[in-house]
Amino acid sequence: MSDNWKIETQAVQGGYQPKATEPRIPTICQSTTYKYDSADHVAKLFDLDLPDHMYTRISNPTTDEFEKKIAMMEGGVAALATSSGQAASALAILNICSAGQHVVSAGTLYGGTYSLFANTLPKLGVEVTFVDPEASAEEIKSHFRENTRCVFAETIGNPGLNVLDFEKFSAVARQMGVPLIIDNTFPTPVLCRPFEHGADIVIHSTTKYIDGHATSVGGVIIDGGRFDWTGGKFPELTEPDTSYHGLRYTEKFGPLAYIIKARVQYMRDLGTTPAPMNTFLFNHGLTTLPLRMDRHSTNTLALARYLEKHPKVSWVNYPGLESHPSYPRVQKYLPKGASGVLTFGIKGGREAGIKFMEATKVIALVVHVGDARSCVLHPASTTHRQLTEEQQIASGVTPDLIRLSVGIEHIDDLIADVEQALQAS
Ligand SMILES: *Cc1c(COP(=O)(O)O)cnc(C)c1O
Repeated sequence: MSDNWKIETQAVQGGYQPKATEPRIPTICQSTTYKYDSADHVAKLFDLDLPDHMYTRISNPTTDEFEKKIAMMEGGVAALATSSGQAASALAILNICSAGQHVVSAGTLYGGTYSLFANTLPKLGVEVTFVDPEASAEEIKSHFRENTRCVFAETIGNPGLNVLDFEKFSAVARQMGVPLIIDNTFPTPVLCRPFEHGADIVIHSTTKYIDGHATSVGGVIIDGGRFDWTGGKFPELTEPDTSYHGLRYTEKFGPLAYIIKARVQYMRDLGTTPAPMNTFLFNHGLTTLPLRMDRHSTNTLALARYLEKHPKVSWVNYPGLESHPSYPRVQKYLPKGASGVLTFGIKGGREAGIKFMEATKVIALVVHVGDARSCVLHPASTTHRQLTEEQQIASGVTPDLIRLSVGIEHIDDLIADVEQALQAS
């Protein structure tokens, strides 16, 4: 029944269904371990013959409720929560990619992901080639190698706000026989469900909209369950795992092979586990996510339209605006809204940018996005200060650029705040 629910109902009712006298909401299971009655039971757990919990590094009842709900909302088969968004992307790739292998990624990425791909994965022997997401399918395919294991991209690039051409990327991945991994942090499943557009694995930084109240850092990996791992390219899923007495993941777990391996092998060994308190809060966040994403999107569109006409503003970048090059893709992939982040250029450049950021009163100077409260950042004088002006421009940060993460306050108060800050700049 719940598979047919609309996402608003899944968000409220999904995952946890209490029986009579049980708590109305999932409780925080703050326990490292679980109690058993027999050696046989424990042996079956450790041989992966039973799905019960063995240790909170690997699974936990509170975390499980969150994983079930987010998997349902994305339309996937199962999920694995992680301690951060960074841990989710690292684990999603390492699960199928080891030293000597290769990843193709869109170059328009969140800074932390870019650094993971450009610096840290290569140190582990995994090479990443960055491609222009607007390049032709042929050009993208020309960067594939014999040892390429996956393609990675963001639905809405952070901070460039370009919307992915899913049709092109999923066709390339399919033709090259590798899975498409999508970072869906900005839209959340409320605005876009990448599995419906050919993605195989979805990850999120749950730190952003899914938490939505700036309380906890976290991430999640969701498995679409449809990629066929048995073509010969992924022996780690089809050949025996010696750490589980020669078990073969695809044989034993079928469509759950990838996500179970990520949990019982990589989460077991790397331990990037979320605290139950945090997954409890993410589960709460999911409950109101459809309402919030709607308000974030309508507020941001209204603010973008207001900024577009303002004499002190030289340009506005929001994919929900008809003038944006990604707008046709917003209509195709994000018909319910383009999420809550926009950037704009302030006349007067760097100095005006700093004055604006310091003058807002409702909107706070915070290095964050996806919070219910509006945040402002002038990257050239803050997060990107160490770079030279040329390096800043190369990374898309012009001296006049201001980023707004638009919250769910009343739009009139946000526009009034931006107006007085523009006057003060
Ligand atoms: C923030 C972010 C991440 C990293 O997530 P953390 O939870 O900060 O580790 C990854 N991708 C995108 C798109 C993000 O915005």
